[in-house]
Amino acid sequence: MGEPRYDADVVVVGAGPSGVAAAVMAASLNLRTIVVEAGRVGGKLHTIGALDNVAGNWSNGPQLAAALTADLERLTKAGRCTLVHATAVSVRGLDDRAELTLEKGDLMTAQAVVVATGVAALTPSDVDWVTTRSAFIAPPLWRAVPQDLAGRTYVLGGDRPLGTWLRAHPEASTTLHVLCPPADDYKVEEVKRDERVRIVPVAHVAIARPTYGDGWLVEVEQRAGDRTSYVATTVLSNLGNKPAALEGLARGEDGYCPPEQQHPRIQIAGDLRSARYQRISTSQGSGAEAVLAHYYATALQT
Ligand SMILES: Cc1cc2nc3c(=O)[nH]c(=O)nc-3n(C[C@H](O)[C@H](O)[C@H](O)COP(=O)(O)OP(=O)(O)OC[C@H]3O[C@@H](n4cnc5c(N)ncnc54)[C@H](O)[C@@H]3O)c2cc1C
Repeated sequence: MGEPRYDADVVVVGAGPSGVAAAVMAASLNLRTIVVEAGRVGGKLHTIGALDNVAGNWSNGPQLAAALTADLERLTKAGRCTLVHATAVSVRGLDDRAELTLEKGDLMTAQAVVVATGVAALTPSDVDWVTTRSAFIAPPLWRAVPQDLAGRTYVLGGDRPLGTWLRAHPEASTTLHVLCPPADDYKVEEVKRDERVRIVPVAHVAIARPTYGDGWLVEVEQRAGDRTSYVATTVLSNLGNKPAALEGLARGEDGYCPPEQQHPRIQIAGDLRSARYQRISTSQGSGAEAVLAHYYATALQT
């Protein structure tokens, strides 16, 4: 029996920093690659207004996203990579191949699939410390423009984009009242000396329309059990993320996909690995490493 025919040596799902790093590493190893991306090349980079912890003098995420887009275009032109715009739904590891199923039912086969789909934003209905009593949609903090933040502004959750937003908008003078559940205490350490931030430690928050007037009524249950009500002009969401896992992946209790628990033909890279280490540099390193792991485990044996 001959070697099975694959659509590609490696299929990479997601073209954020980890997926692009995987594709670049695969090309350097002369592996044929298909990259499947549901949105834009660059992933979360498009949401980062200020960047100061990635090598290469990038001052914001879109600049780095443009460079990654150019990298993929170079690989595509050189015939080493194909970019497919589609949403993947499930992945499967078998003895002789890995399979990826797309939303429209198409199936791709490869020696290995690298899943680098990152995380998706949590909404109030995803977390147990927030209750909303009326149709409530909180716009994301990262998208907020300082000039639009008139009046009292509350932020639901103390996730890391708070620090990024403050660095991206040094001119903003609005006070952000950050409703912080215990799980976010360690995350707000980096911003609590910023005089534009007021941390409100909470056990639970209920949000409803006030009986009179505009804005939102924010009822806070403090950690000691006391209750206080505030009227907010604006409530912004900064609740954190949930893993964007595909069907067929092994998941931990928190929904993330530990690389060591997957089928040998399935590699996990970037933010999808764990709630920890969610940074651009680590996601790039893990994307490259995922392909090398496959290369040393499989390609050298054939
Ligand atoms: C507001 C904000 C600010 C940040 N600031 C910083 C910072 O200053 N410094 C830093 O180091 N990190 C920062 N981060 C974190 C950083 O953006 C992430 O760690 C990094 O982008 C993770 O890369 P990734 O490739 O794993 O995932 P992502 O960048 O999330 O890319 C995943 C890609 O997969 C695609 N995808 C998802 N599901 C599917 C599917 N089913 N089928 C096909 N494609 C799919 C998505 O469209 C996306 O393009 C910030 C994040 C946010 C949200």
